[in-house]
Amino acid sequence: MYQWVIVGGGIQGSMIAAHLLHYKKVNKNDLLIIDPFEQPMTKWKALTKRVGMSYLRSPSVHHLDPDPYSLKKYAKNNDYAGAFLGYYGRPRLDMFNQHCDDLVHREGVQDCWRQGFATGLERESAQWLISIDHADVVEAERVILALGVNNNPHYPDWAADLLRHKPTRVHHIFSENAETQQGRITIVGGGITAAHMAKSLAEKASEPVNLIKRHSFRVEGFDSDPGWLGPKYLHRYHRTRCYQKRRNLIQEARNRGSITKGLRSELKTLEQKGKLTIITDEINEAAYKNKEIKLKLMHRPAIYTENLILATGAEPCLPGKEWLEKTIVKHDLPCAPCGFPIVNQKLEWGEGLFVAGALAELEIGPAARNIAGGRKAAERIVHA
Ligand SMILES: Cc1cc2nc3c(=O)[nH]c(=O)nc-3n(C[C@H](O)[C@H](O)[C@H](O)COP(=O)(O)OP(=O)(O)OC[C@H]3O[C@@H](n4cnc5c(N)ncnc54)[C@H](O)[C@@H]3O)c2cc1C
Repeated sequence: MYQWVIVGGGIQGSMIAAHLLHYKKVNKNDLLIIDPFEQPMTKWKALTKRVGMSYLRSPSVHHLDPDPYSLKKYAKNNDYAGAFLGYYGRPRLDMFNQHCDDLVHREGVQDCWRQGFATGLERESAQWLISIDHADVVEAERVILALGVNNNPHYPDWAADLLRHKPTRVHHIFSENAETQQGRITIVGGGITAAHMAKSLAEKASEPVNLIKRHSFRVEGFDSDPGWLGPKYLHRYHRTRCYQKRRNLIQEARNRGSITKGLRSELKTLEQKGKLTIITDEINEAAYKNKEIKLKLMHRPAIYTENLILATGAEPCLPGKEWLEKTIVKHDLPCAPCGFPIVNQKLEWGEGLFVAGALAELEIGPAARNIAGGRKAAERIVHA
């Protein structure tokens, strides 16, 4: 039996594993990380590479190492040029990833790895039984669910028909095979993922790339105000006992569909150079006609394209809902009206069952899904 099993080896799962090992809360032999990929943080690396991101949005102190200044020291010791960008010191993505890899190696996270997908979770006589790929079962004293949200792409209703008839021409950024084919490209989405993708494709493409978004650019430094990482806003949040109110506070606090000032300038420059066409309108219908995708817009003439990339985010539902629902019912795990876990300060949902990332947001707050939220989860779980 393992002392700890972490389900999900993304940014959050790997960070929690590194913290548990670093603070000697567990030996490598007693820790197991279950994830469908071969290596830690594969999803993160694939997604950020796919959208062509070169600098993170978050500042230099947001990384996986227990020492908050570790990334700054790392940049200096390894002589990285242009290691940090702008006032907030946003780190270079390749350096951030190398720093993560070194940490994972140093703490032995990879040695605790098991490739697979958790498909069931049950409590039996003071231990948790985790089913892997419907085939095998492992036992654990404690389990941490760090599932991320990027496994559940959100597809707009108008895209349903296209997906049925021409799936190779329509891709969601979160899906593995998001490779575009020859021809014109249109990206749909108004957030930072869409903006990164538009920038990187427009720089390379031989024809102008279209970016269609429903609202004008919302310029914000971060996903949520940094005040949400400390007492400035969290004090009131934690005093709020009503979970519906907490959900509303999260929704209000999140700068959804926002981009940084720097990225907006880069997109505007590409537009001026004729490499990018930025359209602010709503798509109300899409169809495949004469080898082209026709996108009917609400207020202007239709757009024709050969490739459609959806940067329309994740489904708002509970991550892992499809296999966790049974566990919730059987073990009477408390959930808020929005369906998300109600957990204690240690992020414990049931005895020995911990959560991180989106699953922990009703306790951690609006930053829960980000790297900073992962650090908070790691700290709370380690101290638990
Ligand atoms: C393009 C992009 C840029 C971002 N930039 C930043 C940034 O600059 N700063 C910041 O703070 N945040 C950023 N974020 C947000 C967030 O930090 C990342 O999405 C991060 O990857 C979240 O980490 P995670 O571990 O929760 O999820 P993931 O990295 O997606 O990892 C979750 C892992 O769990 C696995 N998993 C899911 N279900 C199961 C199961 N049943 N069994 C086993 N494994 C399972 C998944 O396959 C995956 O490997 C960004 C997000 C995106 C998409």
